Amino acid sequence: MRERLLKILRCTECKNNTFSLEKIEDGKLEIKNGKIVCRSCTNVYQIEDGIVSFLKNASSDVMRERRTMDEDEYITDGQGNRYKITSDTIEKFKKQFLSLPEGNGSHFFKRGGSFQTIREGSSRFYSTLNSLAITGKESILEIGACFSYAAFRFAERGCRVVALDISNYLKVAGLFAEKAYFDRIFSDIHRMPFVDNTFDIVFGSAVFHHSKDLAKAFREIHRVLKVGGRLVLINESARGIFEEVHPSFKEMEARGFGDTSYTIPQWKKAAYEGGFKKLEIDFLSLADDYISRHKNRDSKDNFKLKSAYFITRYRTLERCLLNLIKLHRIFFRPKSWKLVCNK
Ligand SMILES: [Zn+2]
Repeated sequence: MRERLLKILRCTECKNNTFSLEKIEDGKLEIKNGKIVCRSCTNVYQIEDGIVSFLKNASSDVMRERRTMDEDEYITDGQGNRYKITSDTIEKFKKQFLSLPEGNGSHFFKRGGSFQTIREGSSRFYSTLNSLAITGKESILEIGACFSYAAFRFAERGCRVVALDISNYLKVAGLFAEKAYFDRIFSDIHRMPFVDNTFDIVFGSAVFHHSKDLAKAFREIHRVLKVGGRLVLINESARGIFEEVHPSFKEMEARGFGDTSYTIPQWKKAAYEGGFKKLEIDFLSLADDYISRHKNRDSKDNFKLKSAYFITRYRTLERCLLNLIKLHRIFFRPKSWKLVCNK
């Protein structure tokens, strides 16, 4: 962390925002190790590897998911060796991490590869990034930042950025922060260590559906957003009103992950309960999704792939077609969608 982060922090216990900072190791880029102490209630928050931890009194659900992620062998290499995300793994796969989200064309990003899902979502990420029309003056929080390629893209554009996550995957973010600096903190999204009205944009990709209490999560984001600020969520799972919960959710739950399946009306209700007045729900292009999944595995002459490319040449027509099937998506299968909540 850098010292200026203290200006926007508040103690998660007593909610006061006066801290004293004790540096143990001060690096060129940031304070590497040390602690910050709340002057009101004397609670101590550790800084390790540049990351400040506010997980001290986090819920058992959060700590369980953090442990599950620590144990998960996220990366499989070409020989079938599997790796947990540790400092050694981060160093070993530095090149691959730094090429996220689109990847460097290696097998890790292809079908069955460890980063396949991230690569498939990369066009959605970049189109969202463009739609935000960032000027570089914004203060941005990325929730569930994970490896933090998104936080990096915001920082690269000059924004002041904080990346937040519950897991040690956030340690990967150090690679990106060396290139364009942003602060990193461990925290639960339901109980964040920020003063009110801090951020212009809160961005999240595939994170909110880990919440067991969506309304509480929305309320907390609403609190830290400035008036006129936006919460932007992509890659959130949603199921149709008449769609059964996919069995994979039970499997994930049993393994210790927090993924939960909500319908679009449940998402909307929770966002309104959280205090947001204006929501924009955008059902994203099915053709774009098809292309990102199939372009590297099907021949260019494949009829479906050709048709998908054809549709993307006529965006207005595509928009009309998507509007026609909107209700169908809400009832049966939403597929990829984007939620923007305005404060
Ligand atoms: Zn305190």
